[in-house]
Amino acid sequence: MDGEVKADAPRARAKRMLSASRLIVVLAVLAMGATLLAGVIGYGLARQSDERLWSEQRTSLRNATGEFRNLFDKSEAIDPRFIRMVEQSVGLKDLKYEIDPAASNREMQPVIDAQGRIAGFLTWQKTYPMMQAMQRLMPFIAAVAIGLVGFAGISLAQLRRAGRELAASEEQARRAADEDKLTGLPNHAKTLEWLDLALAGRAADDVTTFALIELDGMADVTAQLGALGSDELIVAVAARLKEALPADAVCGRIGGDEFAAIVTAGGGVDAGAVIRAALDAIVRPLWIETVVPLSAHAGFAQAPRHATTRGELTRRAGLALRAAAKKGPGAIVGFERALDTVSTDQKFIQRELPRALAANELEVHYQPIVSSQGARIVGVEALLRWTHATRGVIGPAVFIPVAEQMGLMDTLGAFVLRRALSDAKRWPDLYVAVNLSPLQVRDRGIVDLVRSALAESAVPPSRLMLEITEGVLIDNPDEMIKRMEDLHALGVRIALDDFGSGYSNLGYLQRFPLDKLKIDRGFVTALGKSANGGVIIQAIVALGRALGMTVVVEGVETEQQRVLLRLAGCDEMQGYLFAKPAPAKAIDRLLGQGKSAGSGRMLPPPLSPDADSLIASL
Ligand code: C2E
Ligand code: MG
Ligand code: MG
Repeated sequence: MDGEVKADAPRARAKRMLSASRLIVVLAVLAMGATLLAGVIGYGLARQSDERLWSEQRTSLRNATGEFRNLFDKSEAIDPRFIRMVEQSVGLKDLKYEIDPAASNREMQPVIDAQGRIAGFLTWQKTYPMMQAMQRLMPFIAAVAIGLVGFAGISLAQLRRAGRELAASEEQARRAADEDKLTGLPNHAKTLEWLDLALAGRAADDVTTFALIELDGMADVTAQLGALGSDELIVAVAARLKEALPADAVCGRIGGDEFAAIVTAGGGVDAGAVIRAALDAIVRPLWIETVVPLSAHAGFAQAPRHATTRGELTRRAGLALRAAAKKGPGAIVGFERALDTVSTDQKFIQRELPRALAANELEVHYQPIVSSQGARIVGVEALLRWTHATRGVIGPAVFIPVAEQMGLMDTLGAFVLRRALSDAKRWPDLYVAVNLSPLQVRDRGIVDLVRSALAESAVPPSRLMLEITEGVLIDNPDEMIKRMEDLHALGVRIALDDFGSGYSNLGYLQRFPLDKLKIDRGFVTALGKSANGGVIIQAIVALGRALGMTVVVEGVETEQQRVLLRLAGCDEMQGYLFAKPAPAKAIDRLLGQGKSAGSGRMLPPPLSPDADSLIASL
């Protein structure tokens, strides 16, 4: 902003100068032309006027000599007084009577005597009054013309200078508009232009990666180093980034502590590795008065895989960056469809959800739950899925709260329950877990709904597991205990979902009729990262067991986690390591297309060879 303002001032001045000088040159040239023209015309007019004078003089003289012919007759010599008289009356200069004026080049008029012969000549000096006046004027006119020529010349020089200034300031303005002042890197707008170019020029098998890199904790750094210090830091980071990226990559600064990289390469290039190298280069400690530790995180999206337009690609890279920020320093996140659901705005959902419900756009997917011991699928969790025609997958965590606000949860809950129970008939050996939102549990009608859905499907109640969250138990616990008991009385089982993520008031565990504890994914993520992650899980398992509950862990993603969780004594596990949520048909296939119970075995990876060392770390 500042740069633009500064660049604008000389530009505006140069522009004003340029138009003023242009005007002056035009006026000067016009004035010069007018002066010269006036000179030429004036001279012509003066000559005409003088010629008219001469002819008048000649006529007057002729008349005069005619009238005074008698005088010539009387004497040879002409009275000088007569000469003076004529001279004055006609306005002639130096009038003389000469007998033979041949040698002179004066004007002359013959004097005819009574016999009709030429007696002599009256001669006079021709005068040029107007032309002489013009001649006197001429130097002045010439001076004016020369002055004007000089003036036009100076103005022309000024014009040129103003032009040069204008070009220079335009270049300066262009640079200010394209460049980040501090680092000299392309700024936000220019970076986007580069991205347009990269996308337009991408060959069919090229992949264009748009990465956003954000420094961590710049507010603290600025507080510690001051504005100058943090400027120095940004300059250093920019230089490191530029050096670390491939030579043909574009590197821009698009925000205070945010950089962007555009890398176009053949499909085989690992964008993650390129960005990792850039982050590694950035995070080397920096010396600014003291050692400044640096860290950064990055998110990226790729064309054509994630998007082919600039707007979509940058939006998706932004989502990936946000996800990386959540993960913490050093994280690099590539865009994935699941991230997009977060960005779907509430208004859009409010508008689209009722339509989607009516148009059967919502589906129920199932995620297998396996036993820790036998690695067998023992149940499935029903999870709502909404795939919108233009926005893609919208996650339940996004649209369920909106459905609750809009009073649609009844319809939605009943739909999931009925569908899950009807699908459950395909898998007679598995239990089906169905999530209940807090609002659903608070509604007394839930008991009737579950009862009638069970009756319709003829699925034994023991195969239905209802998942509720801790939040449900908080307000009005007495009524909630009653509700749980009513549900329990139907023969269904109840699981406490996301255990440990919320209120963690252990008192509830005793008071509510719960059959199962589902340990929140957060604890699993912490496993192996912090020393006591495993200890907490062990403690929860012990607690659950003591209260007669089975313990499930969700979010198991790695083999290491599986080993540790099994050692910690968890009964069942659920997570991407085994299977992601999938449509009922995919579960059929997974179970061996409806064969007998034993054939539904899954093949989770065997215990890793270094299980002993993992046990030791627990
Ligand atoms: P939840 O009941 O805790 O469901 C588990 C969530 O974790 C699911 O997300 C599942 O896809 C995800 N997940 C499972 N394994 C892994 C893993 O290994 N790694 C990671 N990162 N995630 C894993 P989803 O389907 O997005 O559902 C989110 C939440 O939305 C659910 O959490 C549940 O509270 C709610 N929900 C889903 N379907 C329904 C429904 O039909 N009714 C109600 N009331 N709530 C639902
Ligand atoms: Mg659940
Ligand atoms: Mg959960």
